[in-house]
Amino acid sequence: MDSKTDTPVTVIGLGLMGRALADAFLKAGHPTTVWNRTAAKADALVAAGARHAPTVADAVKAGPLVVVCVTDYPAVYELLGASDVDLDGTTLINLTSGSSAQAREAARWAEQRGARYLDGAIMAVPPAIGTAEAVILHSGPQHVFQEHEPTLGALGTITHLGGDPGLAALYDVAGLAMMWSVLNAWLQGTALLGTAGVDAATYAPFAQRIATGVAEWLPGYARQVDDGSFPAEVSALETDARAMTHLIEESEAVGVNAELPMLFKAMADRAIAAGHGKEQYPVLIEEFTKPREN
Ligand code: NAP
Repeated sequence: MDSKTDTPVTVIGLGLMGRALADAFLKAGHPTTVWNRTAAKADALVAAGARHAPTVADAVKAGPLVVVCVTDYPAVYELLGASDVDLDGTTLINLTSGSSAQAREAARWAEQRGARYLDGAIMAVPPAIGTAEAVILHSGPQHVFQEHEPTLGALGTITHLGGDPGLAALYDVAGLAMMWSVLNAWLQGTALLGTAGVDAATYAPFAQRIATGVAEWLPGYARQVDDGSFPAEVSALETDARAMTHLIEESEAVGVNAELPMLFKAMADRAIAAGHGKEQYPVLIEEFTKPREN
């Protein structure tokens, strides 16, 4: 990792993730100060060269860059909102998971206290931290990111998404939507094929090719969404809807759960009822960009 080694870093929160973050900073050579509510979790890091600050206020004072990674945003406020904590002049990188609204509110809160703020989302498990495999998303002022990029680079593959501090949280959940959708679709197919004695390992490479093939459609479909124009170049939504019926009927006939295809068929039916049957699949974005009707 490319990391400027002489910049002091403070890590607040030494759970599974916070310990991995502090360890990566230490390994990159940064003078690292740590603090955790349960002090014993700092022991291994102290043995590896970290300094354990006696209080949060002292940890914040230790250097210009403070990384916080605790369970949730209320814990962030509880720790950093204490009356003796002075955030003025500090750069705060909040890698705690939360919503985009929480991130934007935390940015306002930190700025009111004189801190510069970046919100982050960690798309990795603790053992990957410190390797290129660990993708860490940041959002907030670009100049703040650029200034600390060499230090934050110790954590993995770091990315700046834009000035809106809510972006990292939104990309994070968008990624989760993609992950679970692909996995659920794969499980549906695995269940269907299982009824004919085909095991999961046999189906997996076939499923992988379909997922990769569909992923290749995304840039073209994205252009249709951005243009708000959905000419049926390869297939009309009403054709897809007939195939969905087939998937539902097959699932029910072989005794497999049909909830998932029924859900996306219901969305397609609403779009067709609204007059979009002859347009291409991404026209369904109109179903996704409004709250569910009860
Ligand atoms: P964890 O092991 O449960 O650790 C939670 C940390 O938060 C501990 O340091 C805990 O202190 C501290 N904490 C919670 N409430 C507190 C409070 N009121 N006051 C002071 N400290 C408090 O969780 P983790 O896995 O490190 O996760 C930390 C953050 O990283 C979460 O937002 C999580 O979603 C995110 N994340 C984790 C992973 C992962 O794979 N682990 C991946 C991506 C993102 P104590 O030690 O004293 O309890």
